Amino acid sequence: MFSRVLIANRGEIALRIVRACHELGIEVVVVYSEADRDAPYVQLADEAICVGPAAAAKSYLNIPAIISAAELTDVDAIHPGYGFFAENAHFADICKDCGIAFIGPDPESMRQLGDKVAARAIAKRAKVPVVPGSEGEIKDEAEAIKLANKIGYPVIVKAAAGGGGRGMRVAHNDISLRKGFIAAKTEAEAIFKDETVYIEKFIVEPRHVEVQLMADKHGNAVHFYERDCTIQRRHQKLIEESPSPILNEKTREELCKSALRLVKEANYHNAATCEFLLDKDNNYYFIEVNTRIQVEHPVSEMVTGHDLIKWQLKIASGETLDLKQRDIHHTGVAMECRINAEDPARDYAPCPGPVDKFIVPGGYGVRVETHLCQGATVSPYYDSMIAKLIVHQPTREETIATMKRALREFKIGPIKTTIPACLDILSHHLFVKSEVDTSFIERHMG
Ligand code: ADP
Repeated sequence: MFSRVLIANRGEIALRIVRACHELGIEVVVVYSEADRDAPYVQLADEAICVGPAAAAKSYLNIPAIISAAELTDVDAIHPGYGFFAENAHFADICKDCGIAFIGPDPESMRQLGDKVAARAIAKRAKVPVVPGSEGEIKDEAEAIKLANKIGYPVIVKAAAGGGGRGMRVAHNDISLRKGFIAAKTEAEAIFKDETVYIEKFIVEPRHVEVQLMADKHGNAVHFYERDCTIQRRHQKLIEESPSPILNEKTREELCKSALRLVKEANYHNAATCEFLLDKDNNYYFIEVNTRIQVEHPVSEMVTGHDLIKWQLKIASGETLDLKQRDIHHTGVAMECRINAEDPARDYAPCPGPVDKFIVPGGYGVRVETHLCQGATVSPYYDSMIAKLIVHQPTREETIATMKRALREFKIGPIKTTIPACLDILSHHLFVKSEVDTSFIERHMG
């Protein structure tokens, strides 16, 4: 096992990794920007190094500063968390060249699976159903229109290097496809520095269901069942739960086995999530693999009782995944609400600022992941997620009741947060019956 690990991240995930490392007897080095100097996890770390000013490009995304910090503090490994360098194969290459373990997959499998076009090809080889669409890159509008007429409208143009719900355009006819194609390509080049786009059939009113996986370097792989992440706003998840309330046992088993075949086909190791869309008839289609730990991983931890961050650390250090699939069970229902510093009443506008009031809920079945405390300030420089509230109870009804109670106890002010929006969703009769699809928020929450 590693003796010293550097965390190349910030916020709640940095704190989450600090805790897992300490429980495994690993010393922790954290890097921080000038804006995060007073964050609690910086004080909890065994060593902390300032890597630059608030702007992420100059601190958390500053490769020379982070690698220098790692070398200076003599760490064995770097945990990238999610976001920042978590899916950056170039950064993983540099770690490798410097003799520092990257806590994640090999740069090569990250490259392959991180490219959505390449990942579709791997899924097909592994006999995993993919959304009907292009074989590879779509080069021009004429090719796009020809394919769209073959598979039928609506279609969605997506960036091969896409992420975070960006670089996607839905088209309902040749005219909107022409526009969407150019827009998606331009956005892909601007955001991801890669203009490659491809086309998928747009699945109408789908649910988003994903499978959590873990694979070691010795050929062993297991899944930790699925998460249902259908509640999204602009393709960004807001509430996640496990198990998916609409999957029957047969489909669950097929879905999880498909995801396992896919990561095995890619010779993958460490944590991964295979994302699927589910249509109204419960047919599932692969959309992408996330080659990192995800924001919503606690939901799977709560239902299966496995600490996924600890598994990441063990696997990266070369340990065997000594877990058999038959020993992984899921119990009860877990749900996560993402608390963002955003104002739902003003179209979810970011709401940074000082936090004068911060009262965290607790009690049976409640877990809170946050880096904030009273007196802290939410910085405008970073992602607006400031806390994750996770609840685990025997039934979905009890989970919803506990979540509502905990959300009401959670007092954050004077900044605005997504707590009221989460409460509205949890109280909506369609959510309670789980009759929702990915457009639920846009359609029913004003
Ligand atoms: P990203 O990597 O940007 O998160 P994904 O491919 O994971 O992009 O898609 C994010 C979300 O966009 C999905 O959860 C779903 O809501 C929507 N989406 C993506 N592809 C399709 C599709 N073919 N049909 C319908 N919705 C889609």
